[in-house]
Amino acid sequence: MNLILLGPPGAGKGTQAERMSALYGIPHISTGDIFRENLKKGTELGLKAKEYMDRGELVPDEVVIGIVRERLAEPDCETGFILDGFPRTVAQADALKEMLAETGRAIDHVLNVQVPDEVVVERLTARRTCRSCGAVYHLKFNPPRVEGKCDSCGGELYVRDDDREETVRARLREYRAKTQPLIEYYRSEGLLRDVDGGASMDEVLASIRKILL
Ligand code: AMP
Repeated sequence: MNLILLGPPGAGKGTQAERMSALYGIPHISTGDIFRENLKKGTELGLKAKEYMDRGELVPDEVVIGIVRERLAEPDCETGFILDGFPRTVAQADALKEMLAETGRAIDHVLNVQVPDEVVVERLTARRTCRSCGAVYHLKFNPPRVEGKCDSCGGELYVRDDDREETVRARLREYRAKTQPLIEYYRSEGLLRDVDGGASMDEVLASIRKILL
């Protein structure tokens, strides 16, 4: 099953992708996570991506496309994958279609997770991320057991630089301008499935499972 999770930042794509990955046994591929891991290791790619991420802007298409091409060629993607945060532009979607066609593959479903802007801002500014394992918490809806500490690994929780309010608003503008056109792109291909991302984490997962039956 080859899936794309589409939706604004803060729609819960990462959370749902993690759970779907465990449920269906296919890898969760998050381009944002790949950039953050590279930044942690101090690679050239990580440092380059940081310039854009800190401003809430998209990393250039050619950089992202190369990374996804390499990742999708790995053996664990043979039985399927969940793309989270890619594609984000029409050029990326075209490149994805082409690279999958080269290996006789195609996208099966695009899950369009819908959430209003104010909910996005509310969710992201209260989001805390574990510096060690990347687990995410919400101060109100999913708080850690001990303040500032990750429940699973005890790592330090921090606010992602791009989760500050002005940057969140910039990310939403980028989403509207560059990513939202993909909704029509995939709708016209008959692949789009709408999901209400404003419901609870369990309800969202239940509606995704129904779609994928
Ligand atoms: P995310 O964790 O998906 O919210 O991504 C964090 C940031 O990484 C984004 O705001 C972009 O700066 C960058 N990024 C992630 N995926 C992409 C992509 N497909 N195209 C361009 N930039 C991306």
